[in-house]
Amino acid sequence: MEDGAQLREEVHRFLESAPRPAGLRDYGATPTVEDVEAGRKWHRYLAEHGYTCLHWPREYGGAEASVLFQGIFAEECARAGVPRQLNITSVDLVGPVLIEFGTAQQRRRFLEPIRLGDEIWSQLFSEPGAGSDLAALRTRAERTSRGWRVDGQKVWSSAAAVADYGLLLARTGPRKHLDLSMFAVPMDAPGISVRPLVQIDAESKFNEVFLEGVELGSDALIGEVGQGWEIALVALGRERLTLGAQAVSMFRFHEELLDAARAHGTLDPALSRSMTRLWARLWLLRSTWQRAIDDGNLTSPAFSVLKLMTSETDRDLGDMATDVLGVDACVDPVDDDLVKHMLVGRAQTILGGTSEIQRNILGERVLGLPKEPQ
Ligand SMILES: Cc1cc2nc3c(=O)[nH]c(=O)nc-3n(C[C@H](O)[C@H](O)[C@H](O)COP(=O)(O)OP(=O)(O)OC[C@H]3O[C@@H](n4cnc5c(N)ncnc54)[C@H](O)[C@@H]3O)c2cc1C
Repeated sequence: MEDGAQLREEVHRFLESAPRPAGLRDYGATPTVEDVEAGRKWHRYLAEHGYTCLHWPREYGGAEASVLFQGIFAEECARAGVPRQLNITSVDLVGPVLIEFGTAQQRRRFLEPIRLGDEIWSQLFSEPGAGSDLAALRTRAERTSRGWRVDGQKVWSSAAAVADYGLLLARTGPRKHLDLSMFAVPMDAPGISVRPLVQIDAESKFNEVFLEGVELGSDALIGEVGQGWEIALVALGRERLTLGAQAVSMFRFHEELLDAARAHGTLDPALSRSMTRLWARLWLLRSTWQRAIDDGNLTSPAFSVLKLMTSETDRDLGDMATDVLGVDACVDPVDDDLVKHMLVGRAQTILGGTSEIQRNILGERVLGLPKEPQ
């Protein structure tokens, strides 16, 4: 039985003594163009000390770490204000996909550069007409004499502007779910253009990606032709898992809000009540996270509710910044962090599957309720 307190102490000491590259900040799941250099150096340092790809098998350089250890590491990174890896898509989504479905050659080629932070991947799933209903996607991959030719458009592709490869879900036939296939796409292939989208907080982390006559070799296919949906579900499941583990950073933000409320003189009884209610929700979230960790089972229903609870709580915390700052939310640059959180909080209940879709998943797959009418 692992000793959680001892693991936490070890990780805490490691993070405290780790040299931080100039310009490193806790940028979250995805670095901007400006974050990449510091993020890469930080990731390399973590890799050299065995702290990246914690959930990967040892034969691919991972640590085969328990869910407890992964949780503690995520929490301690949040507490220390550092990212826990260069970008989430590469390590948490693409790694497990390649390990489970990739050929030996693909695993040899791609896993080590991800582990070391040398190559970044972007998730090329969503399209203008296919988000929640992802299987409605229209980007086509057609067989050619040398491999595949891809045409279509993706959108909201996080990190695409800084990515070396894309994990592309494309249509290889007419049947909605059964004719989707997964590909590894070099982002510098002729025919690919990436247009950054500017977010509400003025940062630019996601992008539109246009694919026009992009030629891929046969070895770009991951898994079998028609296995894309099965592979996508593995990637999306991992994404939900990762996004659910943010309780500690929310406690930190709650403290910042409280300090700001005192400084701005806005901590009246109404705001105090709202802040206390949110604080109680954070503890509920923290306990659910602990239950999921104790369960040790990555398919635990506790993980399914975590994404939903985390994103809605984070959004509500962000919204509270307006109550705390009052009109200063619009004009006071000293509180930029709070305003930023308020703005990006809107994305939480959309990314990685919207709250409505999470509720459908919980109702249908966890509680066994009747399927929604289509
Ligand atoms: C910050 C951020 C980063 C992202 N990164 C990536 C990425 O790297 N790669 C990628 O591929 N995608 C990414 N996405 C896209 C994300 O997965 C989609 O935005 C999400 O799945 C919702 O799809 P949509 O935007 O097309 O909305 P829609 O599917 O059009 O939904 C619109 C509204 O209708 C509701 N709705 C839809 N269907 C149902 C239903 N059956 N029942 C009830 N309500 C429903 C939704 O909940 C939502 O409120 C990112 C999104 C964000 C915000």
